[in-house]
Amino acid sequence: MTRWARGGSRRAPYDHHRRQRAAKVVSLVERAQRDVAVAKKSPERSSKQGRLTAMAKYSGECFCGAVQVEASGEPEAMGYCHCRSCRSWSGGPINAFSLWKPDAVKITSGAEHVGMFQKTPVSQRQYCKKCGGHLLTNHPPLGLVDVFSATLPTLKYTPGVHVNYAETVLPMKDGLPKFKDFPAEFGGSGEQIAE
Ligand SMILES: [Zn+2]
Ligand SMILES: [Zn+2]
Repeated sequence: MTRWARGGSRRAPYDHHRRQRAAKVVSLVERAQRDVAVAKKSPERSSKQGRLTAMAKYSGECFCGAVQVEASGEPEAMGYCHCRSCRSWSGGPINAFSLWKPDAVKITSGAEHVGMFQKTPVSQRQYCKKCGGHLLTNHPPLGLVDVFSATLPTLKYTPGVHVNYAETVLPMKDGLPKFKDFPAEFGGSGEQIAE
């Protein structure tokens, strides 16, 4: 997580994060136990698998299921984008994003069905050509991929920030920092708007 994604909120649900961490530890322990069981059967396979399974994985798909997506590890940031472009493309009042390093995101099935629309150099918007369902947006200048939170139903969505709040049509009182455009680290003004 980047600093801005976590910081700023006095109402951050610390207990919740602790529980999440505890759950993660439990699942890691379970995985380790499985790896040990595999190691007993086949020592050669286990070291390779151990590396692969030590990371959390979140699977998702498009509206029709022809395209399967997987994100590994944890997102760099999560939050809401209130910009007009997100609104127009998604058909919803805001876009709930989760940002990942490009390496962490893979199309695991149906890559041939993935279409892309690029209106500006900042956003390569990807969707399923069969159903029109939206999957993710690659942001090359940021070196990050936004996998829409709706695309990854098993990822616990924990927003930390609002961006492009100057364009909002859905004001939200949640105590999170609200940037007029983007944080300075992302090439924005860094200016925040009061709730
Ligand atoms: Zn589809
Ligand atoms: Zn947006």
